[in-house]
Amino acid sequence: MIAPGEVWLVGAGPGDPDLLTRKAERLIASASIIFHDALVGQGILNLAHRCATLIHVGKRSGRHSKDQKTIDRMIVEAANAGGRVVRLKGGDPSIFGRATEELEACRRAGITVGICPGITAASAAAASIGASLTLRGMARKLTFVTAHARAGEKLEIDWTTLADPEATLAVYMGKSAAEEVAVRLLEHGLSADTPVALVENASLPDERIFHTRLDLLGLTSKTALGDGPAILLIGQALGCSRRKVEKRHSNMCAGLPLTA
Ligand code: SAH
Repeated sequence: MIAPGEVWLVGAGPGDPDLLTRKAERLIASASIIFHDALVGQGILNLAHRCATLIHVGKRSGRHSKDQKTIDRMIVEAANAGGRVVRLKGGDPSIFGRATEELEACRRAGITVGICPGITAASAAAASIGASLTLRGMARKLTFVTAHARAGEKLEIDWTTLADPEATLAVYMGKSAAEEVAVRLLEHGLSADTPVALVENASLPDERIFHTRLDLLGLTSKTALGDGPAILLIGQALGCSRRKVEKRHSNMCAGLPLTA
């Protein structure tokens, strides 16, 4: 399925191997070399051919194992050496996945490169909590935003645009900046009781879900979340189907204030 010398950027989805696309599964199985992120778990790596070379190029916040230029170079070198190359990325490769750098590096080197989409964390998290990210008449807009700043830099975010009561915000890489996100959104007019859901390790066996409200987001994030990747979902749409979810996850919400 992958020609020698070709590269595919493949979305690995949020973690559960059942959430891979069939195309992703076939690409993974036919690769001779796979460069994968830290967020791609063993369940998915097990789908690789037993002779394939697996190379971990993961980046987790604060623990950069390979810089982007090195990853770009490794992918190009593997393709030039005749490898059937898969670059396996968590979620969807085109969402906060540095795909542009890798696509450009391949294209500059004259290498054929394709993208196989994946299920992004926001979709997986919404499925886990049993809610819709949009809501007719109330959440007409869905914004994917990253709250990750380069070391030592402030978040450069247009808060006025983000603080839209008719939008749902999906905040990626937002764990450490959760308090700032909440404070800025409140300052820019969102109400304190705006529903928030935090989902850690969405779709994985150790998934955890917390329902809270905007004024308690910072506290909840600090006290409840662990080491896993987490996404923050903010907006009125998250207030729906809460009752059912609260029952199912009441043990996980223990101790956290819930909105009426
Ligand atoms: N391309 C990925 C996002 C990469 S940025 C995608 O489309 O999902 C990494 C961030 O994604 C993490 O910091 C976290 O905010 C989110 N994320 C990735 N996997 C996740 C998971 N299983 N559960 C919750 N959040 C996740």
